[in-house]
Amino acid sequence: MTTAFSRLIRDVPDFPRPGILFKDITPVLADASGFAEAISAMAEPWRHAGVERVAGIEARGFILGAALARELDAGFVPIRKPGKLPAETFAADYGLEYGSDRLEIHTDAFQPGSRVLVVDDVLATGGTLVAALGLVERLQAQVVGAAVLIELTALQGRARWTAAAPLRATLRY
Ligand code: 5GP
Repeated sequence: MTTAFSRLIRDVPDFPRPGILFKDITPVLADASGFAEAISAMAEPWRHAGVERVAGIEARGFILGAALARELDAGFVPIRKPGKLPAETFAADYGLEYGSDRLEIHTDAFQPGSRVLVVDDVLATGGTLVAALGLVERLQAQVVGAAVLIELTALQGRARWTAAAPLRATLRY
Protein backbone atom coordinates (compact mmCIF):
# COMPACT_ATOMS: atom_id res chain seq x y z
CA MET A 1 0.00 0.00 0.00
CA THR A 2 1.44 3.37 -1.00
CA THR A 3 0.97 6.49 1.06
CA ALA A 4 2.99 8.76 -1.25
CA PHE A 5 -0.10 10.98 -1.42
CA SER A 6 0.57 12.04 2.19
CA ARG A 7 3.09 14.62 0.89
CA LEU A 8 0.10 16.44 -0.62
CA ILE A 9 -1.59 17.06 2.73
CA ARG A 10 -1.11 20.71 3.66
CA ASP A 11 -0.89 22.05 7.22
CA VAL A 12 -2.80 25.31 7.59
CA PRO A 13 -2.12 27.11 10.88
CA ASP A 14 -4.87 28.98 12.75
CA PHE A 15 -7.80 27.55 10.77
CA PRO A 16 -10.69 27.71 11.48
CA ARG A 17 -9.60 29.37 14.73
CA PRO A 18 -6.31 30.63 16.20
CA GLY A 19 -4.26 27.77 17.66
CA ILE A 20 -5.70 25.03 15.41
CA LEU A 21 -3.40 23.38 12.86
CA PHE A 22 -5.75 22.23 10.10
CA LYS A 23 -4.88 19.28 7.87
CA ASP A 24 -6.02 20.40 4.40
CA ILE A 25 -6.73 17.47 2.07
CA THR A 26 -7.82 19.55 -0.95
CA PRO A 27 -4.38 19.18 -2.64
CA VAL A 28 -4.78 15.38 -2.41
CA LEU A 29 -8.21 15.57 -4.04
CA ALA A 30 -6.88 17.84 -6.80
CA ASP A 31 -4.12 15.41 -7.78
CA ALA A 32 -5.38 12.51 -9.94
CA SER A 33 -2.88 9.93 -8.75
CA GLY A 34 -2.85 11.25 -5.19
CA PHE A 35 -6.64 10.96 -4.96
CA ALA A 36 -6.58 7.45 -6.46
CA GLU A 37 -3.84 6.35 -4.03
CA ALA A 38 -5.69 7.78 -1.04
CA ILE A 39 -8.94 5.99 -1.94
CA SER A 40 -7.15 2.75 -2.69
CA ALA A 41 -5.30 2.90 0.66
CA MET A 42 -8.52 3.68 2.56
CA ALA A 43 -10.35 0.83 0.81
CA GLU A 44 -7.66 -1.82 1.31
CA PRO A 45 -8.67 -3.14 4.78
CA TRP A 46 -12.34 -3.34 3.77
CA ARG A 47 -12.16 -5.10 0.38
CA HIS A 48 -13.39 -8.42 1.79
CA ALA A 49 -15.54 -7.02 4.60
CA GLY A 50 -18.84 -7.29 2.74
CA VAL A 51 -19.60 -3.57 2.95
CA GLU A 52 -23.07 -2.88 1.48
CA ARG A 53 -23.35 0.85 2.24
CA VAL A 54 -20.83 3.58 2.92
CA ALA A 55 -22.18 6.31 5.23
CA GLY A 56 -20.20 9.50 4.54
CA ILE A 57 -20.21 12.51 6.86
CA GLU A 58 -20.74 16.00 5.38
CA ALA A 59 -18.75 17.47 3.75
CA ARG A 60 -15.33 15.90 3.11
CA GLY A 61 -16.72 12.50 4.13
CA PHE A 62 -18.98 12.78 1.05
CA ILE A 63 -16.02 13.14 -1.28
CA LEU A 64 -13.99 10.29 0.18
CA GLY A 65 -17.03 8.18 1.03
CA ALA A 66 -18.57 8.32 -2.45
CA ALA A 67 -15.27 7.36 -4.08
CA LEU A 68 -14.82 4.58 -1.51
CA ALA A 69 -18.34 3.28 -2.14
CA ARG A 70 -17.52 2.90 -5.85
CA GLU A 71 -14.21 1.21 -4.99
CA LEU A 72 -16.01 -1.27 -2.67
CA ASP A 73 -19.04 -1.80 -4.94
CA ALA A 74 -21.25 -0.40 -2.19
CA GLY A 75 -24.03 2.18 -2.10
CA PHE A 76 -23.60 5.62 -0.52
CA VAL A 77 -25.66 7.22 2.26
CA PRO A 78 -25.14 10.88 3.29
CA ILE A 79 -25.00 11.91 6.96
CA ARG A 80 -25.69 15.63 6.80
CA LYS A 81 -25.66 18.91 8.69
CA PRO A 82 -29.13 19.98 9.98
CA GLY A 83 -31.94 20.88 7.59
CA LYS A 84 -30.32 19.53 4.43
CA LEU A 85 -31.98 16.12 4.02
CA PRO A 86 -35.45 16.34 2.43
CA ALA A 87 -37.26 13.35 3.96
CA GLU A 88 -37.84 12.24 7.58
CA THR A 89 -34.62 12.25 9.65
CA PHE A 90 -33.06 11.15 12.94
CA ALA A 91 -30.65 13.65 14.53
CA ALA A 92 -27.64 13.41 16.85
CA ASP A 93 -25.97 16.34 18.63
CA TYR A 94 -22.23 16.30 19.21
CA GLY A 95 -19.29 18.40 20.40
CA LEU A 96 -16.55 19.42 17.94
CA GLU A 97 -12.87 20.30 18.32
CA TYR A 98 -14.21 23.80 17.65
CA GLY A 99 -17.88 24.34 18.63
CA SER A 100 -20.85 22.00 18.49
CA ASP A 101 -23.13 20.74 15.79
CA ARG A 102 -25.79 18.24 14.79
CA LEU A 103 -25.88 15.47 12.22
CA GLU A 104 -28.92 13.95 10.52
CA ILE A 105 -29.69 10.80 8.54
CA HIS A 106 -32.78 9.71 6.65
CA THR A 107 -34.83 7.33 8.82
CA ASP A 108 -35.07 4.92 5.86
CA ALA A 109 -31.39 5.14 4.82
CA PHE A 110 -30.68 1.46 5.56
CA GLN A 111 -32.53 -1.81 5.94
CA PRO A 112 -32.00 -3.27 9.45
CA GLY A 113 -28.89 -5.46 9.32
CA SER A 114 -27.29 -3.65 6.36
CA ARG A 115 -23.50 -3.82 6.53
CA VAL A 116 -22.32 -0.22 6.86
CA LEU A 117 -18.90 1.44 6.79
CA VAL A 118 -18.80 4.96 8.31
CA VAL A 119 -16.39 7.35 6.54
CA ASP A 120 -14.90 10.76 7.30
CA ASP A 121 -11.71 12.58 6.34
CA VAL A 122 -10.26 13.33 9.78
CA LEU A 123 -10.65 11.86 13.28
CA ALA A 124 -9.91 14.63 15.78
CA THR A 125 -11.74 14.49 19.15
CA GLY A 126 -14.02 11.74 17.82
CA GLY A 127 -17.31 13.55 18.46
CA THR A 128 -18.35 13.60 14.82
CA LEU A 129 -17.63 9.94 14.16
CA VAL A 130 -19.34 8.80 17.37
CA ALA A 131 -22.45 10.85 16.53
CA ALA A 132 -22.52 9.25 13.07
CA LEU A 133 -22.08 5.80 14.64
CA GLY A 134 -25.08 6.47 16.88
CA LEU A 135 -27.25 7.36 13.88
CA VAL A 136 -26.26 4.23 11.95
CA GLU A 137 -26.91 2.05 15.03
CA ARG A 138 -30.27 3.73 15.59
CA LEU A 139 -31.31 2.44 12.16
CA GLN A 140 -30.30 -1.05 13.32
CA ALA A 141 -27.68 -1.35 10.62
CA GLN A 142 -24.66 -3.56 11.26
CA VAL A 143 -21.59 -1.34 11.61
CA VAL A 144 -18.71 -3.05 9.80
CA GLY A 145 -16.32 -0.32 10.94
CA ALA A 146 -15.15 3.22 10.36
CA ALA A 147 -12.54 4.53 7.93
CA VAL A 148 -10.80 7.89 8.18
CA LEU A 149 -7.99 9.17 6.02
CA ILE A 150 -6.25 10.96 8.92
CA GLU A 151 -6.21 10.36 12.68
CA LEU A 152 -4.91 13.21 14.87
CA THR A 153 -3.69 10.94 17.65
CA ALA A 154 -2.95 13.64 20.25
CA LEU A 155 -6.68 14.40 20.48
CA GLN A 156 -7.44 10.79 21.49
CA GLY A 157 -10.67 10.54 19.51
CA ARG A 158 -10.14 6.80 19.16
CA ALA A 159 -10.93 6.37 22.87
CA ARG A 160 -14.51 7.48 22.15
CA TRP A 161 -15.06 4.82 19.48
CA THR A 162 -16.77 2.19 21.64
CA ALA A 163 -18.14 -0.02 18.84
CA ALA A 164 -16.75 -3.55 18.61
CA ALA A 165 -16.15 -2.96 14.88
CA PRO A 166 -12.70 -1.60 13.94
CA LEU A 167 -11.81 2.04 13.36
CA ARG A 168 -9.05 2.25 10.75
CA ALA A 169 -6.99 5.32 9.88
CA THR A 170 -4.81 5.44 6.77
CA LEU A 171 -2.46 8.10 8.20
CA ARG A 172 -1.70 9.13 11.78
CA TYR A 173 -0.19 12.41 12.99
P1 5GP B 1 -13.92 15.63 15.73
O1 5GP B 1 -15.41 15.55 15.83
O2 5GP B 1 -13.29 14.26 15.64
O3 5GP B 1 -13.32 16.51 16.76
O4 5GP B 1 -13.60 16.39 14.38
C1 5GP B 1 -13.64 15.73 13.16
C2 5GP B 1 -14.45 16.50 12.18
O5 5GP B 1 -13.92 17.83 12.06
C3 5GP B 1 -14.35 15.86 10.82
O6 5GP B 1 -15.64 15.87 10.20
C4 5GP B 1 -13.35 16.68 10.07
O7 5GP B 1 -13.78 16.92 8.76
C5 5GP B 1 -13.23 17.98 10.84
N1 5GP B 1 -11.83 18.29 11.18
C6 5GP B 1 -11.31 18.51 12.42
N2 5GP B 1 -10.01 18.81 12.34
C7 5GP B 1 -9.70 18.75 11.02
C8 5GP B 1 -8.47 18.94 10.28
O8 5GP B 1 -7.38 19.25 10.80
N3 5GP B 1 -8.54 18.80 8.93
C9 5GP B 1 -9.72 18.46 8.32
N4 5GP B 1 -9.69 18.31 6.97
N5 5GP B 1 -10.87 18.28 8.97
C10 5GP B 1 -10.86 18.43 10.30
